[in-house]
Amino acid sequence: MDKLTVRDADVAGKRVFVRVDFNVPIADGKVQDDSRIRAAVPTIALLVQAGARVILASHLGRPNGKVVDSLRLRPVGQRLAELIRRNVPVTGDALGVGTEDALKRMRPGEIVMLENLRFHPEEEANDPGFAATLASYADVYVNDAFGTAHRAHASTVGIADQLPAFAGLLMERELTMLSKLLEAPERPFAAILGGAKVSDKIAVIDNLLTKVDLLVLGGGMANTFLLAKGKTIGKSLAEPDRVEDARRILATAEKNGVRVVLPVDVIVAKEVTRGTEYKTLLAEKIPASWHIVDLGKQSQELMLDALADVKTVFWNGPLGVFEIPSFAHGTNAVARMLADRADQGATVVVGGGDSVAAITRQGLASKMTHISTGGGASLEFLEGRVLPGVTVLLDREPAEQPKPAATKSTPKPAAKKAAASATKKATTTKTPAATKTPAATKAAAKTASRK
Ligand code: ADP
Ligand code: MG
Repeated sequence: MDKLTVRDADVAGKRVFVRVDFNVPIADGKVQDDSRIRAAVPTIALLVQAGARVILASHLGRPNGKVVDSLRLRPVGQRLAELIRRNVPVTGDALGVGTEDALKRMRPGEIVMLENLRFHPEEEANDPGFAATLASYADVYVNDAFGTAHRAHASTVGIADQLPAFAGLLMERELTMLSKLLEAPERPFAAILGGAKVSDKIAVIDNLLTKVDLLVLGGGMANTFLLAKGKTIGKSLAEPDRVEDARRILATAEKNGVRVVLPVDVIVAKEVTRGTEYKTLLAEKIPASWHIVDLGKQSQELMLDALADVKTVFWNGPLGVFEIPSFAHGTNAVARMLADRADQGATVVVGGGDSVAAITRQGLASKMTHISTGGGASLEFLEGRVLPGVTVLLDREPAEQPKPAATKSTPKPAAKKAAASATKKATTTKTPAATKTPAATKAAAKTASRK
């Protein structure tokens, strides 16, 4: 990874603003799924151990710039406190004198969590004044919120203009794992794409078509491909205005030598509900009153067979309406198979809220090589887009690396030294892209806090 990480930062005694993605489901005042909280623990623990003052900041849900009591971060603070066995007080507001005082009183190794950033409309607007106030709380900025890195908000982009900005350990892991898929996948490399809508996934399919050997399509989005192949699909979920895209994708796949596997038989149901009537049909001519809701047995076998020897897999999107147990068989079968592949050394990366939920429900999450904490962010990354929250992080100085083409210049011993010291004292090794020196940064932060 070409970004400096929290391990490169000098944080002892410093105030460190850590943007985390604690956007977790909450019901009855309790966190329902704490995986995103657990995923940030390594970064928080590293900072606490290094004697930093750790200021955590996150959004939760969509309060649209207003205070919404059910979206307060207190339950998240409590869960984190249990996980790391430390006090995690949550401020009543991300701004205000009370918060500033609480932050001033912090001692090395202590943690404070700011209240939901999105209670302020300035967060999502990437308002420079709001970003400056957040920056004024700290000496160092760490972004561990991979799931929010595709958004240019005050706490993900604006703040990084004003403080030396490092990747957290989760951010590092996500970027490393996802870049590996795009840059150096061990082959055969397969993408399995399912889920509801093909429109969400066209861009990622387009980019992956230049990388993968095999594309397995299922779920609601495969229906649009069935239409493109001239099949009838009854009342099934589909996007007729995307049939052209589907056709183009199939043509590109053929041109690129990418094998595409579509369902050959499907489970169809009278309604997309529990307890409804259902049966298996060939995916050719589905009668008008039926919905495709899952893969049939033949499709499962075909797909498992196609995936049998893959060395790298990316999976996004369930292959049926997995929320209803009778229609979760295809999704479950593929999940079990991928867990096996991972056991045998294949790299299996899964991204997407619902796909991850399906895997977690089967207790298979820990078997996979990497479960991405960012649905939208991981898709945008795999589309080949640059995530704004990643761009603003400090670049690692390119190491004195093999340049086979450059015959004349031999690496100087000095270069090695410079690289080594760069990793040690990162705050002093600004790349040309980062224009401000740490001193200027501090000054800017101070000016900001004065107003
Ligand atoms: P992810 O969150 O993993 O990215 P998506 O959000 O794209 O996945 O899609 C998940 C949704 O797709 C689930 O709610 C699931 O019920 C739905 N889905 C999958 N297959 C079908 C289908 N055949 N018909 C209707 N909905 C489907
Ligand atoms: Mg989803």
